[in-house]
Amino acid sequence: MTAEGVSPTVPEVRLRDLRATTSPVELVGRVVSCDRREVSRKSDGSRRPLVSGLLSDGTATVRFTWWDPPREGIERGVILRAVGAEVREFRGRPEVTFSWRTRVAPAGPADLPRVDADEIPFRTVRDLAAPDEGFRIEVRIVRVAPRTVTVGEERRVVYDGLIADRSGVIGLSSWSDFGLLPGEAVRIVGGYVRRFRGLLQLVLDERSTVARIDGADLPDPAEFLRGPPRTIASIEDEGGGGAITLEGIVVGLLPPSGLVYRCPTCARTIKNGLCRIHGQVEGRADLRSRLVLDDGTGAVTVNAGREDTERLWGLTLEEARRRLRDQPDPSLLEESILETLLGRRLRVRGAGTKDDFGVTVAPESIETVEVDLATAAAELGARFSEGR
Ligand SMILES: [Zn+2]
Repeated sequence: MTAEGVSPTVPEVRLRDLRATTSPVELVGRVVSCDRREVSRKSDGSRRPLVSGLLSDGTATVRFTWWDPPREGIERGVILRAVGAEVREFRGRPEVTFSWRTRVAPAGPADLPRVDADEIPFRTVRDLAAPDEGFRIEVRIVRVAPRTVTVGEERRVVYDGLIADRSGVIGLSSWSDFGLLPGEAVRIVGGYVRRFRGLLQLVLDERSTVARIDGADLPDPAEFLRGPPRTIASIEDEGGGGAITLEGIVVGLLPPSGLVYRCPTCARTIKNGLCRIHGQVEGRADLRSRLVLDDGTGAVTVNAGREDTERLWGLTLEEARRRLRDQPDPSLLEESILETLLGRRLRVRGAGTKDDFGVTVAPESIETVEVDLATAAAELGARFSEGR
């Protein structure tokens, strides 16, 4: 990997200005993502290594393919200068290829083009798709809170939240502390978009910049957190969402609900003292209820945690454990939760994700909606007689 003897005749281009061309170009970019694999040669079936991924210089992000790459030194975050890269077009977007004719060398942040904030493409939340990078966005912080995660051996704090503009709302996950506060209006440059557990998320790290702005035309966070409930059918159609509000009647409880035991390391529920990842562990007792809510247009599963379960059920974890000592049958606890909650109308706010089983909601708040019991019972009866 050397950039010595750079020919002055090769033009250095910004990725934003890349066009498919017959003559090779020079470019500098940061590896956003990369993936190493091998393909079989058609001629003799031998294996040929390649690295492909995304490259960004702050003006745009393009796909790159590097044939016969070095064994080491290509990873996310590395800045490369490529002299003699070929540019092609695939589905209307330029892509670059590094071949044996391309000289690729490590470069530094100073080699990246200077980009004024105004030059960086402006995006709205609705425009974002994974794995976008190289854009600026102006949003309101709807909510944000620190969360401690374990990455390998290391404990790190990640700031999770939700951001919004007039066009929509998207999850936020920041690996750097920008001192973000709910309600603030900010301009973000240098984030990237990924899909996490089925939902889009804007990820910030030490390379991102955050500036406070006036934000007069950004929505009030309350609009998102206190919005009126939507029908479950419309939430299903949209595949969930980062901030949804729905209302429905409890029509069932899914296992595992009630008293569960969790792995002390990863918090997964364990079975017979065995964690799927960590093997034999000393389980930690917890309460949960996986509520099935129906609003007449569809049904969702709401994964209520300990606090919500205790409040809705009226029994604490300790009381549940005491009951279990008297009557060692955990299914009685489940039955008791279902009996208490069946037919109750709940208003749920949170993040919804969709998979083959439908929409599952990780609730931020669950409130009981007071309704006339006779009406609710009649509604519920009608639902069951419809064969739901
Ligand atoms: Zn575990």
